[in-house]
Amino acid sequence: MIDIDQIVENKQSIALSTHIRPDGDAFGSSLGLYSYLKKKYPEKKTDIYMIEPNPLFDYLPGYEEILTEPSEESYDLFIALDMGDKERLGKNKILLENAKEAACIDHHLGYKGIAPEANSFIVEDASSTAELVYELIGSEEIDDESAICIYTGIVTDTGVFQYSNTSRKTMEIAGHLMTFDFDHSKVVNEAFYEKTYRQTLLLGRSLLESILLMDGKVIVSVITQRTLRFYNASSRDLEGIVSQMKHTKGVDVAIFMYETVTGEFKVSLRSNENINVEVIARKLGGGGHDRAAGLTMTGSSYDVINNVTAEIEKQYREKESEDGVRQEQ
Ligand code: AMP
Ligand code: MN
Ligand code: MN
Repeated sequence: MIDIDQIVENKQSIALSTHIRPDGDAFGSSLGLYSYLKKKYPEKKTDIYMIEPNPLFDYLPGYEEILTEPSEESYDLFIALDMGDKERLGKNKILLENAKEAACIDHHLGYKGIAPEANSFIVEDASSTAELVYELIGSEEIDDESAICIYTGIVTDTGVFQYSNTSRKTMEIAGHLMTFDFDHSKVVNEAFYEKTYRQTLLLGRSLLESILLMDGKVIVSVITQRTLRFYNASSRDLEGIVSQMKHTKGVDVAIFMYETVTGEFKVSLRSNENINVEVIARKLGGGGHDRAAGLTMTGSSYDVINNVTAEIEKQYREKESEDGVRQEQ
């Protein structure tokens, strides 16, 4: 584990940032660390940057201080959270490039080494980056502000403790966080379950128009730009649809995509233990985790389906031949 206090020692200016289309863990981990650094080191200049912060998380302390345009200045230290590939910083990449030193805290697979090893805290099987931030701050120094941030990150990245990335340690940390002064059930509802009516309609439409492929093992749904325009919706209104699709009995992989610009799709993949979607996403230029991954692809929605299902089939075949070998032994 890295020592965050040692890393920030002698740094007068610090910038924190996270991935584009920031999710609950992006907010929770970066605002959690931000509030710790601001409180412990008031003499340092600490700034936090995000691209298009989502007002869903405006209840988090520090939300109002988020800067949305990268500055040209050269920070003494740049800390990347919940991502390990500089391309996922979007225009905030400039902050990393101009910084004198970098650090990275992340739990995605395939870390691209954007910071020196001594400044990198990468734990691939951690539930969330927020859980890692908890460990860096240390249980003794967590306060009401960092607690609500970290709890938000854990709750959203584990699907409220549902996904297989939830460990005993995750629950113990969450248990400790619940002792602080914030409404934990409100966080669960607002950060994870609550939907606007528009989101509910888009969820309904995606489910209604979904199709099953590969003997019901794969479920697919597509939202086009035309549909997004019809509902006056943005990508934020599509959060959670893929997980809901994945709940379908008998399904190993859920594929949800939406058209970003004509001929380009943002694809979300969710799976169970039978298929590793990180391998598929990485092969097609994206990444993520074994059971939750994402990518962006050009072409038609059929091209996306063909490419992804071909990779899924490959994994089934590999599994079958492994099982065959095992049976022969
Ligand atoms: P999403 O389907 O966008 O919610 O992403 C699922 C998981 O994969 C999240 O942990 C994302 O941070 C990660 N992810 C999504 N897209 C990419 C990408 N292009 N590269 C690396 N990780 C990604
Ligand atoms: Mn994230
Ligand atoms: Mn995360």
